[in-house]
Amino acid sequence: MWRSLHGIGRNADSGGYRRYAWTPADADCRLWFRMQAEARRLDVETDRNGNQWAWLGDPTAGDAVVTGSHLDSVPDGGAFDGPLGVVSAFAALDELRARGVSFKRPLAIVNFGDEEGARFGLACVGSRLTSGQLTKEKAFELRDADGISLPQAMEAAGYDPEAIGHDPERLARIGAFVELHVEQGRALDLSGDPVGIASAIWPHGRWRYDFHGEANHAGTTRLVDRRDPMLPYAETVLAARREAELAGAVATFGKIAVEPNGVNAIPSLVRGWLDARAADQESLDAVVAGIEAAARDHAVRRGVDLAVVRESFTPVVEFGHALREELSRLLADSTGTKVPVLGTGAGHDAGILSASIPTAMLFVRNPTGVSHSPAEFAAEDDCVAGVHALADVLEGLACR
Ligand SMILES: [Zn+2]
Repeated sequence: MWRSLHGIGRNADSGGYRRYAWTPADADCRLWFRMQAEARRLDVETDRNGNQWAWLGDPTAGDAVVTGSHLDSVPDGGAFDGPLGVVSAFAALDELRARGVSFKRPLAIVNFGDEEGARFGLACVGSRLTSGQLTKEKAFELRDADGISLPQAMEAAGYDPEAIGHDPERLARIGAFVELHVEQGRALDLSGDPVGIASAIWPHGRWRYDFHGEANHAGTTRLVDRRDPMLPYAETVLAARREAELAGAVATFGKIAVEPNGVNAIPSLVRGWLDARAADQESLDAVVAGIEAAARDHAVRRGVDLAVVRESFTPVVEFGHALREELSRLLADSTGTKVPVLGTGAGHDAGILSASIPTAMLFVRNPTGVSHSPAEFAAEDDCVAGVHALADVLEGLACR
């Protein structure tokens, strides 16, 4: 499975993946999913929001155990973030069939659409739409860097954008959702465990900073006459680092757009996107407020106008204690050891769905902690340990 997925959407120069929503690479991933499901005699369907489901048993029974993740990627993303959860889901089903178990509840494997938000700037679009956390109206306003709207992109890919929206009937089918994911930090590496259970997802959000200055000639405009928005932007990047360090949080300006974007022109606009996350709401509020205050100070001193827009926000997600405890117990029984419980700064579909249904997550060790990069890695033994853990959990939930 890993090899057959390996080449899809892979950029030969960077070695990273460019699997963006509703692109040909995305279609290839979806075809791959369908073929894996059909090879296992599962019933495949795509829901109104473009999420793919592969069913074993009656979808309408109302208490299905669902597992899976996503197949899309960030720009030049790694091979594991998302795909590991989908591949492990199919592999865990194979493992359960090899064990000869009989299913008492329906099982489904899911591939959520547009989890990373690489194209339209909003993460977890598929699960947000399904759970009602993103309305059709708001989704229709999303545009990619080329100005193509989400409905246009869906339509071009052969899907009906008019159908998208809250899908309570779909949610009502799910009794529990367990997402396996490569860890995007080093907690498991430090504790020496191949697999862990998620406790919570940090609250996190994205803010757009527009610094408006005045375009002018880079050679003839005296320094004192400039209103250069790059300067307060640069100062704000440093402020973000400082504020995050103070609060034990993380804050990142990882995307920037410059106008007119000429080597010999003072910019008229520098637009930077802030991604900030912290263990709790209070710390996050303090970090975000501190960065904005610093940005406003610097903007005023440089004669630059600043507008700050919050583009998305996800509150803290505590995974349901009952399901989490059950996972702990099931894995303690099957492995004979206590599996560590850890928090994460990364958002996931499981976090979005946890507001509507019982969800839990398993993490697989990532030796360097690197993610959203071609260097993202998990050792084969650890991936296999993840499959076994997922199979143990699914057997405990769906077969007893
Ligand atoms: Zn992911």
